[in-house]
Amino acid sequence: MLQHTISEEISCTGIGLHTGQPVELKLRPARENTGIVFIREGRGHPVEIPARPEYVTSTRLATTLGFGEATVGTVEHLLSAFYALGVDNAYVSLDGPEIPVMDGSSASFVFLVRSAGRRQQGQKRSKIRIKHEISVRDGARSISVRPGEGLLVDYAIEYGHPTIGTQKIDGFVVTPESFEKEICRARTFGFLHEVEALWKLGLAKGGTLENTVVLDKERVLNGGGLRWTDEFVRHKVLDLLGDLALLGAPIEGHVSVSRGGHALHRMLLEELMAAPDSWELTGGAQTSREFEAGEIVPSRDLTAPV
Ligand SMILES: [Zn+2]
Repeated sequence: MLQHTISEEISCTGIGLHTGQPVELKLRPARENTGIVFIREGRGHPVEIPARPEYVTSTRLATTLGFGEATVGTVEHLLSAFYALGVDNAYVSLDGPEIPVMDGSSASFVFLVRSAGRRQQGQKRSKIRIKHEISVRDGARSISVRPGEGLLVDYAIEYGHPTIGTQKIDGFVVTPESFEKEICRARTFGFLHEVEALWKLGLAKGGTLENTVVLDKERVLNGGGLRWTDEFVRHKVLDLLGDLALLGAPIEGHVSVSRGGHALHRMLLEELMAAPDSWELTGGAQTSREFEAGEIVPSRDLTAPV
């Protein structure tokens, strides 16, 4: 399997879920072995932040990457689309601190990648093949990964809420087709009392019924209702793929999550990084990605053909 980038530059605008501010997002092709690199513009020198676990600065509410003063929030829905559709290399420029929320799912990002097209590159794609099971437990929450063919996901959530209750997905085989059909349209969700508390803290300022499934104590408040009755657990799978994308290479293994969220997903990444004997990098060159975070040096031309 060879690496892929997108065929041409494509952009969109939207608002940040937490800042409520408009953001312009540009996706650009990138050379082999670049990985996904965010470029935070609009505040002096542009700063590059590779999508790698060491640049995660927060997993509260969403996954945020940062370097120095520059941060990029809510990266997971875009990274999820890149991961599932097999985009290995791309620059993601944005002129605000947060990826636009769009409709709260990955559907718009899938549309952007499909519109730009994918282009095959000359070098092989590395994969992280799991050799031995790794598991992490945090009270009632747990996450594990064991050997498997391709990427399989089990996800279970349990909420004391009549509309959500217990929801489970078992043995979901992640492919571009299954992601587009079953996962990419599942939206982020929140509870009215929490949203009101977040507003008081100056967060979720961009959150509306257009981009978040909002529940009161009994029901869903969005006029159009749910896209699936188990949209909640489907969104958790979407978030998981976005967080796994930070490893920089797709996983060959079977991931099982119970009562998960971004913080638990990150714990699995940390365990994987700390236990290199449990997995091996197969297929591609055994190189780490070329880029480190930092200000863009003027000599590097991001518009050069790739
Ligand atoms: Zn999400």
